[in-house]
Amino acid sequence: MVDPLGPVLTANWGQDRAWTYDAYVDQGGYDGLRAAVALDPDAVIQMVKDSNLRGRGGAGFPTGMKWGFLPPLGDKPRYLVVNADESEPGTCKDIPLMMASPHTLVEGVIISSYAIRARHAFIYVRGEVLHVVRRLQQAVAEAYAEGYLGENILGSGYDLDIIVHAGAGAYICGEETALLDSLEGRRGQPRLRPPFPAVAGLYASPTVINNVESIASVPAIIANGPDWFSSMGTEKSKGHVIYSLSGHVTNPGQYEAPLGITLRELLDLAGGVREGHQLKFWHPGGSSTPLLTAEHLDAPLDFEGMVAVGSILGTRALSIFDETVCVVRCALRWTEFYKHESCGKCTPCREGTWWLVQILERLEKGDGSEEDLETLLDLTDNIAGRAFCALADGAAAPIQSSIKHFRDEYLAHFEHHGCPFDPAAAQLFP
Ligand code: NAD
Repeated sequence: MVDPLGPVLTANWGQDRAWTYDAYVDQGGYDGLRAAVALDPDAVIQMVKDSNLRGRGGAGFPTGMKWGFLPPLGDKPRYLVVNADESEPGTCKDIPLMMASPHTLVEGVIISSYAIRARHAFIYVRGEVLHVVRRLQQAVAEAYAEGYLGENILGSGYDLDIIVHAGAGAYICGEETALLDSLEGRRGQPRLRPPFPAVAGLYASPTVINNVESIASVPAIIANGPDWFSSMGTEKSKGHVIYSLSGHVTNPGQYEAPLGITLRELLDLAGGVREGHQLKFWHPGGSSTPLLTAEHLDAPLDFEGMVAVGSILGTRALSIFDETVCVVRCALRWTEFYKHESCGKCTPCREGTWWLVQILERLEKGDGSEEDLETLLDLTDNIAGRAFCALADGAAAPIQSSIKHFRDEYLAHFEHHGCPFDPAAAQLFP
């Protein structure tokens, strides 16, 4: 039994050669799989439903419910696809997880595929992280050698193959339907949903797509039981998650804790904001989630708590910015990213992000006007919710929230005829 108060996903990260099969098995690895294949697949789905595990990719959709949306078994095969295309700015949890403990993911893939009766599973990894691809390939090869993959897994009669697929490094391919297009060999662009992948996904077959951390959470749920998992967290947001802290924080890195912890508590674990400075603003889940300020330090970091303060939990990528940072410059940098990564399929996102950058450049240089601020807000209103996927919403959120919390700072740029901040003071790595 895992210590309910201790780390779960990160428990063996500090162990010598934690990524090897031997090290994983020493820590009880593959016990969850043994328990799962002794059960009926539907019973495994029920355990995941009972655990109240919610998707860890950002949206928090209930994992067991998603699995339950698959249509009844028919002529078409079912697929499991793991979204390992972690790319949201500031987000750094799946990549360390796959590097430190790839077998946790592999075991999760086997159990989840067994539960949904998939014969093939794909792990779609972000293209730039070749070291992760290699590590996963090694773990998959070890799992085949030990009889956890291939035919008749552990004598259960169940067969599964895992394919590790490297993307080409496009942010949009983390959007689940663009990921599917890319996996099928086409240019990655979002599809209109519905139909959701559960009904028509990879090769138009029923497909479950889950984030790395969601799937990696499954072995411990099966090994320790759904009640163990749902005893952690808050009323509607259960379990442990990985928070990644970056930016102006003394000890940046990954911190595993139950959902519902606050940023104040996480900063205590991470040594606080860098010495001699104060928190100015932060994101709870990467740059696509609305900015918050020091006023929100005690808001619970769970799905409901973040909505209550006007943001969303997202990927739990807590980016910390101190008082030396110009919020207008940040908004411009994030928007440049979204403009660059917009796939161009739909007009509001393709044209809108371009215009957002034009206006923000003007504002940041101190050449704009108050009217520009209104145009900017109007533009974000006409982009958010009007595109095929969430990229456009993500581009709008940091602009809208930065104006909400720091309108005076935008105005100061006009008065100052330029940025009032010294860029050298804001260096993250002085
Ligand atoms: P979403 O809420 O539309 O969907 C979440 C999941 O639930 C999807 O898998 C979807 O297929 C499924 N789903 C929703 N309704 C369904 C239904 N009626 N039937 C069947 N399945 C259903 O969110 P999204 O657009 O997939 O993702 C947006 C999130 O992605 C944001 O919250 C953001 O935080 C996150 N994100 C993460 C990264 C990263 O690097 N991890 C990058 C960008 C964005």
